[in-house]
Amino acid sequence: MKVAVIGGGPGGYVAALKAAMLGAEVTVIEKNKLGGTCLNVGCIPTKALLASADVLRTVKEAKDFGVVVEGEVKPDFDAIIARKQKVTDELVAGIQFLFDKRGVKKIDGFGKLVDKNTIEVTKADGTVETVVADKIILANGSIPTVFPGMPYNGKNVITSDEVLSLPKQPESLIIVGGGVIGSEIGQFFATMGTKVTIVEMAPQILGRMDSEAAKNLARQFKKDKIKVMTGVGADNYIVNDDSVKIELNNGKSVEAEMVLLCVGRRPNLANSGVEEVGIEMAPRGFIQVNEYLETSVEGIYAIGDIIPGAMLAHVASAEGMVAAANAVKGNSETVNYKAIPSCVYTEPEVSGVGVTEDELKANGTPYHVGRFEFRALGKAKAIGKLQGFIKVMTDEDDTIIGASLVGPHVTDLLTELSLAVGLGLKAKDVGKVIHAHPSLSEGLMEAIHDIHGECVHAI
Ligand code: FAD
Repeated sequence: MKVAVIGGGPGGYVAALKAAMLGAEVTVIEKNKLGGTCLNVGCIPTKALLASADVLRTVKEAKDFGVVVEGEVKPDFDAIIARKQKVTDELVAGIQFLFDKRGVKKIDGFGKLVDKNTIEVTKADGTVETVVADKIILANGSIPTVFPGMPYNGKNVITSDEVLSLPKQPESLIIVGGGVIGSEIGQFFATMGTKVTIVEMAPQILGRMDSEAAKNLARQFKKDKIKVMTGVGADNYIVNDDSVKIELNNGKSVEAEMVLLCVGRRPNLANSGVEEVGIEMAPRGFIQVNEYLETSVEGIYAIGDIIPGAMLAHVASAEGMVAAANAVKGNSETVNYKAIPSCVYTEPEVSGVGVTEDELKANGTPYHVGRFEFRALGKAKAIGKLQGFIKVMTDEDDTIIGASLVGPHVTDLLTELSLAVGLGLKAKDVGKVIHAHPSLSEGLMEAIHDIHGECVHAI
């Protein structure tokens, strides 16, 4: 069985490894670097940069912990960018190592579907190689959206593709779009000392995440001196060589050295051949797939950011595993989309799974909620991270249906609640599980106890 995969991001490379482990002869076609958006210009580089910001913040607060740091504490922007690059380069090499180990072949070039079994690969030198396979998995991923009227030039009006490798730290930066990506990048630059303004059309930052959690982060942004303007749109851009001015739809204007456009992402399917081979499309340029992730053309599967649903690396990888299994063994596996974790790696972190309280209220769905504040938790006090809370929602049968968290390490803590939502666990049962003391996870247990009015440390 021959399987060809277009795209070596977290969807495509995981699908390739899984198919190879199931015994297929696998070829991956990648026009850029292995790891895709996530590893090269997305998840990992942003977290590497935020880790540097975290160290800077911690060292600045060292005195509060009784640690004396002598001399000036300041960021070295070039060294921070270089560290980020080292982290991503090593991980890209790690994927190549796994490909070699599992016998996955990689072809560098742009892959275009010709028919249900054939891909034409155009290489950098213009030569064309034809790949023939029994099954094809499409994992072309996404690119930043630039709406008409947004004067993207890759220099001082940029997207996330450029902002993580800037040759020089901007003195000021306007971020259009205060979603997850804009918020993470905004806080990184603000911690480095850049004057950051976030312009967000929606009434809150962080998109559809819990409104209380978003407000909590917005309060931190104020302390970080990030100017957050919500409910405001950018009307007109005036681009000069060394500055950009944006006229807003509230009559005001903002100006900075650079503008970062963070207004969403769209499927990267230009010239991919998908429509020519008759693949049925979904609205907004996505590919329609069935529950087995197979497209309308038998034997061609599609995964990750090119299909409708959450545009997240862990979703792409989960789909990669399922598509690979179905391609090699026949359609039998499906993805469990019930509990998709959403995480924001700011300080404080924000995370959520399942429904939000806002959605439950808006839909008029009966629910119960339990809550716990980190400031009431011994471990949070010990590590000096008191900001934030944990909120857990159950339905009328006591099944955990959602959670929203803001605070220390909540992107890691979320997993227990993802498990609860994914498996439909009852709050009473999870609340009986002994959680280690002192640990931040005790906060989860306390929030769950609070659902039944049994939280002994409630304040
Ligand atoms: P991609 O990662 O986009 O990979 C697609 C690959 O296909 C690319 O390498 C591309 O070069 C290649 N390709 C495309 N077309 C062709 C072609 N015709 N021929 C050959 N190769 C082709 N998600 C998270 O879960 N957590 C995060 O913390 C997170 N942070 C992010 C931060 C930023 C700044 C950004 C931009 C995104 C972030 N994401 C995060 C989203 C995440 O990166 C994507 O959801 C994920 O990368 C999608 O994986 P994918 O495999 O579908 O596509």
